[in-house]
Amino acid sequence: MKFESKTVHIGVCTDDTGAISTPIYQSATFRHPALGQSTGYDYTRSQNPTRKVLEEGIARLEEGAAGYAFSSGMAAVTAVLMLYAAGDHVIVVEDCYGGTYRVLDQVFARFGLSVTFVDGSNTREVAQAVQHNTRAIIVETPTNPLMKIADIRAMVELAKAADAHCIVDNTFLTPYFQRPLTLGADLVIHSGTKYLAGHNDLVCGLVVAREAELAEQVKYIQNSTGAILSPNDSWLLMRSMKTLALRMEKHNANALAVAEWLAGHPAVKAVYYPGLTGHPGKCIHESQATGYGGMLSFTVAGAREAAAVLEKVKLVRFAESLGGVETLITLPAVQTHADVPPAVRERLGITDRLLRLSVGIEAAEDIIADLAQALEWQAAE
Ligand SMILES: *Cc1c(COP(=O)(O)O)cnc(C)c1O
Repeated sequence: MKFESKTVHIGVCTDDTGAISTPIYQSATFRHPALGQSTGYDYTRSQNPTRKVLEEGIARLEEGAAGYAFSSGMAAVTAVLMLYAAGDHVIVVEDCYGGTYRVLDQVFARFGLSVTFVDGSNTREVAQAVQHNTRAIIVETPTNPLMKIADIRAMVELAKAADAHCIVDNTFLTPYFQRPLTLGADLVIHSGTKYLAGHNDLVCGLVVAREAELAEQVKYIQNSTGAILSPNDSWLLMRSMKTLALRMEKHNANALAVAEWLAGHPAVKAVYYPGLTGHPGKCIHESQATGYGGMLSFTVAGAREAAAVLEKVKLVRFAESLGGVETLITLPAVQTHADVPPAVRERLGITDRLLRLSVGIEAAEDIIADLAQALEWQAAE
């Protein structure tokens, strides 16, 4: 079955009532048929019928053995990191999501999990970071907010050689554009809050494992630590994912149009988008993904100019988060990446001149017109 059909049929109910939409099983607990027997459901932290349909759905889309739904993307990241123990080491892309940086740097460090942050677009640097105790290589591609590309196949090879897991945070592209498990990655993580839910109205996370054995370990942690997605939110996520293919196509087309327009604007110094000619990771990206997604970043002359754009936009909203139908703009250095140390931010290029756009599904002309009026005076200066 084609991907679009699989997404539409997530949560199509097959029970005897004929209902098309999967019911929300708003029950914490379930009656046992007899002593020592179970319907398959005992208690909702362990498993819930609504959540199960969602988990099977995301596993099908990512082509993995099993999927698990969490109360946030960070709960999903945390559950994955809990696969490891004190004394273990993980390699993570240095321009990862700010919350991932923080949880490693401030929380897991206290439990003895060590981390080396690397430039994921530099395969040699990743290889050099491997230690005897390295248990995982964790990448985002494209990264947030600089849109750097990691070579997933190369990461898989490095991880295999080190007897470690290759883990991809696939939030930005979703399985519609990129399916890391089919390239050999062991785990995929999602902030479902972003494109999968897609409407800026739900916080959720997902993990999918390529193989059953690792899936069982994730399930064990999900049940043991308990950051599950509620039945209600599981239903809402399924409802959203039905339109994933349509939304991703429009995000992609709009982002390409906006990126090309920004690249030709006199007030814009640089545009970071893997779909633009000249993007250093374009070739590798095209070898592992079928679209570029809806995220891009760009720089203006200075901090004052960046602040002015945030102030002047009207249709485009100044807000954190990404992946929703509405176009959002943010200043990563101050908003999403405040927990990354300033020296690291400066080295990475996450400066006070860098703006990040999550391009929505409005008409591209309207997004461009709004950015045009916000940048107008800068071009004239
Ligand atoms: C937002 C985000 C997360 C964290 O997800 P939450 O749902 O906000 O907890 C993790 N990774 C990436 C790439 C994200 O964009």
